[in-house]
Amino acid sequence: MTEPLLRVNNLVKNFSVKGGILSREVDKVHAVDGVSFELAAGETLGLVGESGCGKSTTGRCILRLIEPTSGEIWFEGRNTVELGSSELRALCRDMQIIFQDPYASLNPRMTVGAIIGEALTIHKLAKTRAEYEDRIVELLETVGLTAGHMRRYPHEFSGGQRQRIGIARALAVSPKLIVCDEPVSALDVSIQAQVVNLLQDLQEKFSLTYIFIAHDLSVVQHISTRVAVMYLGRIVEIAPADELYTRPLHPYTEALLSAVPIPDPTVKRQRIMLKGDVPSPIRPPTGCHFHTRCPIRQLPLCSTEKPQLKQSSDGHWVSCHLRG
Ligand code: SF4
Repeated sequence: MTEPLLRVNNLVKNFSVKGGILSREVDKVHAVDGVSFELAAGETLGLVGESGCGKSTTGRCILRLIEPTSGEIWFEGRNTVELGSSELRALCRDMQIIFQDPYASLNPRMTVGAIIGEALTIHKLAKTRAEYEDRIVELLETVGLTAGHMRRYPHEFSGGQRQRIGIARALAVSPKLIVCDEPVSALDVSIQAQVVNLLQDLQEKFSLTYIFIAHDLSVVQHISTRVAVMYLGRIVEIAPADELYTRPLHPYTEALLSAVPIPDPTVKRQRIMLKGDVPSPIRPPTGCHFHTRCPIRQLPLCSTEKPQLKQSSDGHWVSCHLRG
């Protein structure tokens, strides 16, 4: 079996909650609570869940933008958690991020050319000024913009164009893995499909591997090879995309899926409305984190015993006492 490009083992990230006049730690936010998965080169893993479920924190820990509390992150056979700063800098070339908010993630005082060219300078990827400018033009054209855009500023562009600039910036260092952190959530619905299509074309052209983070299942449906559903810091179900959309096992996945519109008006799907909000990750519920909202919970089993992620069929894993 070939080694996966990325292997995440039991990743944990807690954030301190400080209080009192001495600003001591008074609590912890359990943002990521033992996440494990593998990703093969060329795959797209959709990482889905409600806001605060830990999906963005997972993505940022993988890129080492946030220090994990514990766990292992293996990239091309090396545990990145153990790398020193110079090795980490080299790793930045292989792993990039596209941010959610194309308005906030581009420096308004820099021209588009300078934004895209920054990484070329940092990683010394252009020997001459001409080479530097040619590469920026090439990147702009790759994402559907033009050489004429190079000397303009981010505020002169639409949301979709700004996200294209963010994509060009990520591509500048020829990465292998890109974490797409809700890259279309801030865009109009009409523009979302264009950006997703562009990401798919680029994946084919440059053999990219994606982790595509989204808060609903409809966005990741067509781009994902596999989908992982997260709830309160844990993966509750992970499966090949077709399998997850046609045979969801976890009650939380079922609820998320019931909100995905079906293009065929003759097919009716009953919307499953979950009661209550996602509980606080400072004091997550005992046992199965989902038991306070689960329509099929069995007490006391679900409130006392943590369900393990177990394989139901080939590549389809679910964490539920009653399913799988
Ligand atoms: Fe629901 Fe229990 Fe399954 Fe959790 S373990 S999803 S509470 S049935």
